[in-house]
Amino acid sequence: MGRDIHMFFFPFLAHGHLIPLVDMAKLFASRGVKTTIVTTPVNASFFTNTIERSKESGVHIGVELIKFPAANVGLPEGCESTDLIPSLLDFELMSKFRKAVLMLQEPFEKLLQECKPDCMVVDMFFPWATDVANKFGIPRLVFHGTSYFSLCATECMRLYEPHKKVQSDSEPFVVPNLPGDIEFTKNQLPDSVKQEDENEFSKMLKAAREAELKSYGVVVNSFYELEATYADYYRNALGKKAWHVGPVSLCNRTTIDKLERGKKSTIDEHECLKWLDSKGSNSVLYICFGSMGNFTSAQLKEIAMALEVSEVQFIWVVRKPKNNEEDEDWLPEGFEKRMEGKGLIIRGWAPQVLILDHEAVGGFVTHCGWNSTLEGVSAGVPMVTWPLFAEQFYNEKLVTQVLKIGVAVGVQKWVRLVGDFVEREAIEKAVKEIMKSDRAEAMRNRAKALAEAAKNAVEKGGSSYSDLDALIEEISLHSH
Ligand code: UDP
Repeated sequence: MGRDIHMFFFPFLAHGHLIPLVDMAKLFASRGVKTTIVTTPVNASFFTNTIERSKESGVHIGVELIKFPAANVGLPEGCESTDLIPSLLDFELMSKFRKAVLMLQEPFEKLLQECKPDCMVVDMFFPWATDVANKFGIPRLVFHGTSYFSLCATECMRLYEPHKKVQSDSEPFVVPNLPGDIEFTKNQLPDSVKQEDENEFSKMLKAAREAELKSYGVVVNSFYELEATYADYYRNALGKKAWHVGPVSLCNRTTIDKLERGKKSTIDEHECLKWLDSKGSNSVLYICFGSMGNFTSAQLKEIAMALEVSEVQFIWVVRKPKNNEEDEDWLPEGFEKRMEGKGLIIRGWAPQVLILDHEAVGGFVTHCGWNSTLEGVSAGVPMVTWPLFAEQFYNEKLVTQVLKIGVAVGVQKWVRLVGDFVEREAIEKAVKEIMKSDRAEAMRNRAKALAEAAKNAVEKGGSSYSDLDALIEEISLHSH
């Protein structure tokens, strides 16, 4: 099946988009589809080994490189991924990055002309790709990198604007027409929804929405059993053409595949696994806030103190690199010494899926980025939800209110990149609730059942497996 079609995958230049689309390309390739990932040299370097390993097992994935014009816009050489931008809070740097991204259009168009793929899965953050695709008669599928739930919530918010009818930013309202009576406050909504004035980002989102209307459909990294109501609502009530093919992370079956996703891990995997092997099942809490979140030292210290008093064993991923001892002012005095054997701090990049899948891990404090959320679901662990920005508050509601496999730490406000401050008592309470409380077991059982459903979904005959089949079939028919 699918052997005679060629598909392009063009992920946005950020780990949260690159990682799942590389997995997705592997998935299509494993079904005999000729696949090519289009990206820039630095981004390609993050998955060279993965592609090599696939090749050795007989699954070939091509890579087409486009030069990233960093120097042309005044960005440092090699600054080709959002997490490599020296400061994401620097408006000017971000604007330069966006400008460089726009400049990818021309080389991408040339590539399409040369290769003439039968279909392409392109990230929503490249809205211009639809017009380019339509010019060559190539169907474009949009990848948002989020859940059906958040796609539906975003659309309901845009259509009905309930946040414009409240008296204050903290007054709760129910999202109109969204199944499940989901409550929100204006404080928890992304800036792009609240802001009245147009800016570069809101213009891009508008262009993305318009492009989607002219696109062939949407591919979602999710599975039907996880959010059936919202998959149906998205397709039937909102009238979108969509296929779900996830959780895509489950295509990584070996230790090395789980280890080498995204950046190179800053901890030796043997050390990490040895540490986990020495712990009892469900006894370790894993804490990680994705590839972009950037806490203040005060917040990090607060987390450290909460971990200490909650007396749980933990692996905590902190994005701050260890430059010198003075830079460690975010840790309480003597913290690491006291936590020896009990807690492991990973500075930089952790092998997240490898850790989550270990039986010693029994809970996950997550920022609710969709990849992390779905990886947590696939591992069957209860979660403490701690959304920071983007669409993370939507994913939080799915976990806590719909799936009931997590506890909210209680973040009140959407704050770009740094997140809203959370006090240690709230952290301690939420952590204890998923690791030690009476409620924990029921949550864990539900989480385990969902993990089982996730695995079944991607096996032959499962919902995601079949949807992928249907999509490949449709593209084949379209292209012949
Ligand atoms: N990730 C990882 N190690 C880290 C941090 C993140 O492997 O130390 C991976 C994680 O498994 C997920 C992705 O990076 O696949 C982050 O995506 P997500 O949507 O959760 O968050 P974002 O980084 O986009 O905010």
